[in-house]
Amino acid sequence: MSVSNLHPCLTCGVCCQNYRVEFSVYELQSMGGTVPDAMTHEAGGNRFRMNGTQFHPVRCVALGPLPDIGPECVGCTIYEQRPRPCREFPFASYGCHDTRAKFGLPPLEEDDVQHWQEAA
Ligand code: SF4
Ligand code: SF4
Repeated sequence: MSVSNLHPCLTCGVCCQNYRVEFSVYELQSMGGTVPDAMTHEAGGNRFRMNGTQFHPVRCVALGPLPDIGPECVGCTIYEQRPRPCREFPFASYGCHDTRAKFGLPPLEEDDVQHWQEAA
């Protein structure tokens, strides 16, 4: 068994470069939620989006390097404050595998999936 020391998401981040991330206005900090207003824009009605996810190439403004964890590591710089669609996007789901394949990344190792899902 060979398991990565780092969670596979920390050397990936492609789901934050693939989807339009849209959520209710009530998730904004100014409305009592958690998402920093300055990283978002209005998407119509009572919906808001993460900046950078409204056009191609997609790259959420909150995706950034995590040098404290490792030199090549990337991740969500507002992880605890991220909006609901991000909280509900499951690691090792179809969408995860499909997005990795779209970006030319290798499939997740079964051992890694099992290990990190158990650790979650
Ligand atoms: S959930 Fe999947 S696509 Fe998203 S960062 Fe993690 S491994 Fe990559
Ligand atoms: S808010 Fe965070 S988790 Fe959501 S798309 Fe942006 S970087 Fe990714």
